[in-house]
Amino acid sequence: MQSPVTVRSMKAAQMTAVGAPLEFTDVAVPAPRHGEVLVKMEVCGLCHTDLHFWKGDHPLPRELPVTLGHEGIGKVIEIGAGVTRVAEGDTVGLGFVYGTCGCCRECLTGYETHCESIQSTGAHVDGCLAEYAVLGEDWTTPIPDELNIAEAAPLLCAGVAAYSAVRKAHLEPGELAVIFGAGGLGTYALQIAKSYGARVCVVDVSDEKLALARELGADHAIDATDDPVSKIMDLGGADAAFNFAPVSASWRQMIDCARARARLVLISLPNDALCFEAGEVIERGLRIMGSADGTRQELRQLMELARSGQVRSVVETVPFAEVNTAFDRLARAKVQGRLVIDMRGV
Ligand SMILES: [Zn+2]
Ligand SMILES: [Zn+2]
Repeated sequence: MQSPVTVRSMKAAQMTAVGAPLEFTDVAVPAPRHGEVLVKMEVCGLCHTDLHFWKGDHPLPRELPVTLGHEGIGKVIEIGAGVTRVAEGDTVGLGFVYGTCGCCRECLTGYETHCESIQSTGAHVDGCLAEYAVLGEDWTTPIPDELNIAEAAPLLCAGVAAYSAVRKAHLEPGELAVIFGAGGLGTYALQIAKSYGARVCVVDVSDEKLALARELGADHAIDATDDPVSKIMDLGGADAAFNFAPVSASWRQMIDCARARARLVLISLPNDALCFEAGEVIERGLRIMGSADGTRQELRQLMELARSGQVRSVVETVPFAEVNTAFDRLARAKVQGRLVIDMRGV
């Protein structure tokens, strides 16, 4: 097929050293191989995982320079040989999972994000903070026409991580879901828990975040420093609790507010060890589980929830040229909602 990309170089915002500003570099436009599509990027959400790579908290799996970004949405402008399900002109999403082996036990049983051979966008391969990116057609997420792409972008990682966590708790209508941490993932989780018919209680230290949680439908919003456990027990105790706060203090509160047979889901990564007495878990029959990322099927379900208006994103768009300012603000936690880099018009 004749390539519509006549100029085969593009601007990419590349990480060249830990903590250093990303550099706008001219690099070759990637050519889609068999089964892959080339996407002209339009928007890309910034995720804390990008920040952890940039700060050196998490080592990157390959040598620098690396183009970060794994919450990208754009239009397919070229398809590789053998592509049949995605067409030129389609709007698709590129999330954190770039690909997996497809044939291990995890891949075969619907747990592809636990595949030992998982490859990540913006880590193992160059990501979406560039004018173009490639992805296997099987790993693209269809983006419904009705969605605003800047609002849909964070669903590709933050949103689906929250969705997968809530799904694992098997919430029943009327149950009390308690969400610790009302940042990006927490605000998605609260809306998703509402879609299951649960009553939702959000716990955070920030008044602004608690106000936003109320606006997004939280039934109860509790200050984390003002004895949240007794307030949650007054509501009957948590049937399920989700930890999006990266501090171990909320872990203690999560155990203490749990009702018998509560499901406790851990998502964020505190720096220190989490402790509990075996009896606390055994006697109440608690179930404790971890959750990371989300599958392609979960992404499709989440896009449908967003399309039907049950999940909305609070985003602020930042021009591509100001990507370093955006990283800086994310590092200093000076963000309400999610930052989305806008590459339209680049
Ligand atoms: Zn992410
Ligand atoms: Zn696998």
